[in-house]
Amino acid sequence: MPAIDLHAHSTISDGLLSPEAVVTLAAQRGGRVFALTDHDDVSGLAAARACAEKLGLRFVSGVEISVTYSDRVTLHVVGLAVDEQHPLLAQGLAQIRHGRLERAKLMGEGLAKAGIPGAFAGAQARAQNPEIISRTHFARFLVETGVVKDVKSVFKRYLVRGKPGYVKHTWASLSDAIAWIHAAGGVAVLAHPGRYDIGRSAMLDLLKNFKALGGDGIEVVTANHHPEQVQFFAQQAALLELKASLGSDYHGPGETYFEPGVLPELPAHLQPIWRDFLPEQDWAWAEAPVPVPRIEAMPAAESH
Ligand code: AMP
Ligand code: MN
Ligand code: MN
Ligand code: MN
Repeated sequence: MPAIDLHAHSTISDGLLSPEAVVTLAAQRGGRVFALTDHDDVSGLAAARACAEKLGLRFVSGVEISVTYSDRVTLHVVGLAVDEQHPLLAQGLAQIRHGRLERAKLMGEGLAKAGIPGAFAGAQARAQNPEIISRTHFARFLVETGVVKDVKSVFKRYLVRGKPGYVKHTWASLSDAIAWIHAAGGVAVLAHPGRYDIGRSAMLDLLKNFKALGGDGIEVVTANHHPEQVQFFAQQAALLELKASLGSDYHGPGETYFEPGVLPELPAHLQPIWRDFLPEQDWAWAEAPVPVPRIEAMPAAESH
């Protein structure tokens, strides 16, 4: 298994572990190259990088940007190897975070009308970063207070379009997200494409548009993909000459199908995205297979 993981979350967004704890876990599992990619926020990167340096882990500065595409589809674009101080990126992310607080209040109001009071406060209390209150925090509140049995059911019943806690929201545009990442010197990766529920021809259009806007790569291996989706997106990456990325999308113990740090191989013959930002002399080291870690994944919660 390659010791490379280019997508993971901490308490800076909707992960359960601190930036240092996620990095430490990835290193303990044998990880070599690791990106922290919190939603819309880069404020965990400095602590994560310092910790990674101590542990001999090659750290990649990342962020997962929320995007609204063709007026109604939410997409996630991961920026890798970004200069997190770049003003264009920093300002763009600040704008997205600003919208999140207002949205969370409206989500709370929607849930209150559906007979669930206190959800905004409950989500807020679970968000360690006051600027990133996400649906995940609402979901954890609803599960922990016994309203719904598990996170997957919360999303289905309360947090997706047409449900009481759903609030239509406009995030960044796809072209802005890619432009900010490029301005900050990074590469733009379409996260977990298999998760977007848009039908096959809209998906093919999306991939083409992403490429045309300058997108660099797509996640092929992610906890969010079934094996057929890995094959499908591998094929699309090759056809469109997009690089391939891989990431756990780790959110915390018991919440994600993959543990962080060490992941299944990318299908052969793809161009790995990390070669865009790792010096050539490190490729062989980074890509060397490592044994399956002994600290093994716990029984998987539904991946997302
Ligand atoms: P937000 O950015 O506030 O809309 O929250 C999105 C986050 O919710 C994603 O990054 C996932 O972590 C989580 N999520 C989205 N859909 C699901 C789902 N069906 N089940 C579990 N978690 C989900
Ligand atoms: Mn998330
Ligand atoms: Mn995502
Ligand atoms: Mn993610």
